[in-house]
Amino acid sequence: MRLWSAKSSRDFDLKFFNEGNYIRAVEKKMQTETISKVLYPADNVIEGKELRFKQEYFLASATIHDVLYRFKKKHTDLRLLPDKVAIQLNDTHPALAIPELMRVLLDLENVDWDDAWQITQKTFAYTNHTILPEALEQWPVWFFEQILPRHLQIIFDINKYFLEEVAKRFPGDNARLARMSIVEEHWERKIRMAHLAIVGSHSVNGVAALHSEILKQQLFRDFYEMYPERFNNKTNGITQRRWLKMSNPPLSELIDDYIGNGWVTDLYELEKLKAVATEPEFVTRWQAVKKLNKEKLAAYILKHNCIQVNVDSIFDCQVKRIHEYKRQLLNVLHVITMYNRIKENPAGDFVPRTFIFSGKAAPAYVTAKLIIRLINAVATVVNNDPEVGDRMKVVFLANYSVSLAEHIFPAADLSEQISTAGTEASGTGNMKFALNGSLTIGTLDGANIEIMEEVGRENIFIFGLTTDEVNNTRSKGYNPRDYYSKLPELRRVLDQIAGGFFSPGAPDLFRPIVDLLLNHGDYYMLLADYTSYIACQDEVSKLYRDQNEWTRRAILNTAGMGKFSSDRTIAEYARDIWGISGLCQGRRIPPAW
Ligand SMILES: *Cc1c(COP(=O)(O)O)cnc(C)c1O
Repeated sequence: MRLWSAKSSRDFDLKFFNEGNYIRAVEKKMQTETISKVLYPADNVIEGKELRFKQEYFLASATIHDVLYRFKKKHTDLRLLPDKVAIQLNDTHPALAIPELMRVLLDLENVDWDDAWQITQKTFAYTNHTILPEALEQWPVWFFEQILPRHLQIIFDINKYFLEEVAKRFPGDNARLARMSIVEEHWERKIRMAHLAIVGSHSVNGVAALHSEILKQQLFRDFYEMYPERFNNKTNGITQRRWLKMSNPPLSELIDDYIGNGWVTDLYELEKLKAVATEPEFVTRWQAVKKLNKEKLAAYILKHNCIQVNVDSIFDCQVKRIHEYKRQLLNVLHVITMYNRIKENPAGDFVPRTFIFSGKAAPAYVTAKLIIRLINAVATVVNNDPEVGDRMKVVFLANYSVSLAEHIFPAADLSEQISTAGTEASGTGNMKFALNGSLTIGTLDGANIEIMEEVGRENIFIFGLTTDEVNNTRSKGYNPRDYYSKLPELRRVLDQIAGGFFSPGAPDLFRPIVDLLLNHGDYYMLLADYTSYIACQDEVSKLYRDQNEWTRRAILNTAGMGKFSSDRTIAEYARDIWGISGLCQGRRIPPAW
């Protein structure tokens, strides 16, 4: 692994220093070193800043030059590069490596265009990570003109040859040429980095089965029709060494006692747990481990949030980046619905819940920041209502990170994976939860679908519209106000948020959130999924009353997680894309695409 950092070759400009202009003397050095100073924190959204563009070029270029430096120590014929090197583009962020390699081959190594293009295409492969339009990188042509003019010439040439090929294959289809062009010509000319990545690679993959189908049928349909053999799927995975063995020692040791430790290097070994899913001693020990992990998280919550939670309640967790498509707000609608039900019927028999949220929002993402504020505001009302008592608590854990995540997954009973169908490329949090014996409540989105296939439809809580239903509903004209009018429980919740019930000192604070749902189209269709989500949560509560049945299903979730090891994912990349099969030995991986 290489972590590049930008350093100025000249510490300061002596000329300016001698003139007494000390700021100018170090300005160049400062500017250069800013390039690698910050990681842009935006997630699933582009940061169209010039500094980000320079940073992407800096990192891609440094890597290309290092790769070639090491290749040339052993080889002289650059046409061997694809046999010795594979470059997997992790999203389009490093896609400038394509014109950079072309530039080096053409201008520095005197390779002719056709050979250079063959070498490049065979070396690169591209993994797409999102279909959200606001996350698809498009750099203005004028950035290239000012900063990377030679790369722009090369991209224009790549595009010219590519469009000639398209025109030959689909004669007279000018609309298709405009759709597929690497250059977006509307208003401000831009380079579409995903198109560059597809054209410059021999493989294009999505990160879950549904996501890869959406790439072929929707986002990159034209490219799939042109190059069907390039498209394939590599379902994401997680490492059981971190997300079970290291982060959950008590559960790891219990599993070892019953099935040995083969699962550490072959996660399919967990299947052996199916045989003991109702074995009384195993079940009792499993429940004791979950309780212990919940007590540890409860201590963390008490220390950091000063909230005493009930360890016999359902630990209902949604921990992930805060984004509208992930629908933390839908979860909040359920929280408030449960609160209102308790207030309506204070003596009622409710299954207690602790709602745990954690996650960061990009600094400029105003709506996401407001959703965090709403979660905390709802928490203040709910947690301080004596009538609610320990039947309900709401916790927002600040500073979400891998280290914090390692404490949360082992303690979770319920995993919230509730994105609008068709928006979550894969998800990996869903896998970490299930591996640690949480039940999932989720939509048919991303890898949730494959988790359902592996653990069994009867062992997961599925609700909501499917991807096709989302698309159909949108094209027919979705009217969220229909749901507001028809559903009194939902209407009450939205009126409370909009009317300042949770922000008495600032009654309009959360109105913009309700406006998004009622007056701006509810793009992620929370209201369309509300009824089915609430009904599904009622099923969750009902099941939790039967602790042995809950535990049996939790064990079957862990037992079904074999497929979701990153060992399987990497073996598939190695065999299908990089042309090396050593990592497949003894692994159950599906046939090549
Ligand atoms: C796994 C993980 C994620 C990804 O979570 P999703 O639910 O798949 O979005 C994000 N942040 C941290 C710290 C993680 O450990």
